[in-house]
Amino acid sequence: MLLNPAVTDEEQDVEEPPSTPEEEPPSRVVLPHTPRPAFWADIPDEKWNDWHWQLAHRLNTLDELSQIINLTPEEITGLTAESKFRVEITPYFASLIDPDDPHCPVRRQVIPLGRELQAFEGMMEDSLAEDRHSPVPGLVHRYPDRVLMLVTTQCASYCRYCTRSRIVGDPHQTFSKVDFEAQLDYLRRTPQVRDVLLSGGDPLTLNPKTLEYILAGLRAIEHIEIIRIGTRVPVFLPQRITDEFCDMIRRYHPVWMNIHVNHPKEITPELSRALDKLLSAGIPLGNQSVLLAGINDSVDIQHELVHKLVRNRVRPYYLYQCDLVKGAGHFRTTVSKGVEIIEGLRGHTSGYAVPTYVVDAPGGGGKIPVMPQYLISQAPGRVVLRNYEGYITTYEEPTDYDPHLIDHLDRQATHRNESGQQGVSGLLAGDAQAIKPEGFDTLHQRGGGQHRLNGNTAKWQPFHQNGNGHNGNGHNSNGHSSNGNGHKPEST
Ligand SMILES: *Cc1c(COP(=O)(O)O)cnc(C)c1O
Ligand code: SF4
Repeated sequence: MLLNPAVTDEEQDVEEPPSTPEEEPPSRVVLPHTPRPAFWADIPDEKWNDWHWQLAHRLNTLDELSQIINLTPEEITGLTAESKFRVEITPYFASLIDPDDPHCPVRRQVIPLGRELQAFEGMMEDSLAEDRHSPVPGLVHRYPDRVLMLVTTQCASYCRYCTRSRIVGDPHQTFSKVDFEAQLDYLRRTPQVRDVLLSGGDPLTLNPKTLEYILAGLRAIEHIEIIRIGTRVPVFLPQRITDEFCDMIRRYHPVWMNIHVNHPKEITPELSRALDKLLSAGIPLGNQSVLLAGINDSVDIQHELVHKLVRNRVRPYYLYQCDLVKGAGHFRTTVSKGVEIIEGLRGHTSGYAVPTYVVDAPGGGGKIPVMPQYLISQAPGRVVLRNYEGYITTYEEPTDYDPHLIDHLDRQATHRNESGQQGVSGLLAGDAQAIKPEGFDTLHQRGGGQHRLNGNTAKWQPFHQNGNGHNGNGHNSNGHSSNGNGHKPEST
């Protein structure tokens, strides 16, 4: 199927395909493409459209970049700095840069500034503590049922704010077959993992055989239900999304993919076509953006971005608060800016177009969603809510709701549970009474020993009607056993 030619920014600038829009398009039409800067005017199309050529001709030096961009003094400082994060820009992505606008949102993502070398308060090398949550190198197992699997440190181009700049770009840090084997081995003996997220670096920069080797290795593990790929290759190097590549991926379905677009300017006819190919191969597409100061920290730009994404059948998935990572200081916004953006989207546009705004917890707690407050107040039997317009309403709650009606249908066997990670949900289910800060019990003993009043721990066990020391969510007025979640009861 051909893509709708009206999907991109350049629709005004390009020739209409020679077909009447009302009719079925013919199987071959001249599709629009991004105008190529004069610097590459002589490159034949078959080279320009070849991903090998694009990778081999990436720009990385001051000399090369100054031939296509009027660099500012601060960019020159950034580009000549010794210890900088790697610079590589595909000619295709460079062709989207406005050579005369230092604020060009494409340019700001890939050309370093002197400022990125400045340390800032709270900055870390591995701000999400990923390496501390890796049972084997490159496998971050933070959540109960899914893992992040880093398979390369290489990317098609490098984003200045990269959260993994501690390893990304460095060929000496990359992952080898020995690592893949250790990762697969861990997954084989960890049956609670049902979702593997391939990332890096960019998995789509791997040699196609290597990528297929990893996909085949994962698919051979029965408990792995879905594979996801996080990639910015469609954005940096859409030429890489060939029919052959799509045919390879579809052999390992269900495979989901998240791309990484931050600004509407990145959605070109080339990207739209690559996305259409991926979708035609049955790969559901999502987008992850990073909220970046001076690039997309605006309600209007976010509107345009999410609308262009959904027109391309890409579901905005996450909008990330910029991490506390070395090099990213000048890209950071306040969290309130993210809340303001969600306030400006939710209700104002299609629910499909609204991403979840998340702060990835420094120190390694995972993604924490943040949004405006819609639940304004509550009392037994009634909640007060407000909508995006400021309309304030009440919702009458039932007074005879029985949460245990469902108990006999509860599918305990399909609920994969990892003891210790039930969290707040576990408190609600009655698995535990409290979550305590580290050292809580010791601190509250205040150095005292056992005495006549504190020796018997039974006095702190809650009473439960059904007598086994546990009754689900603590209410058992209807006499049903509410230990219906398959959670292991714990006494505290
Ligand atoms: C983001 C992330 C995931 C996936 O999280 P979802 O919310 O399921 O998309 C898994 N593992 C790690 C370590 C992550 O950072
Ligand atoms: S594509 Fe992803 S991994 Fe690569 S530099 Fe950009 S943010 Fe980092």
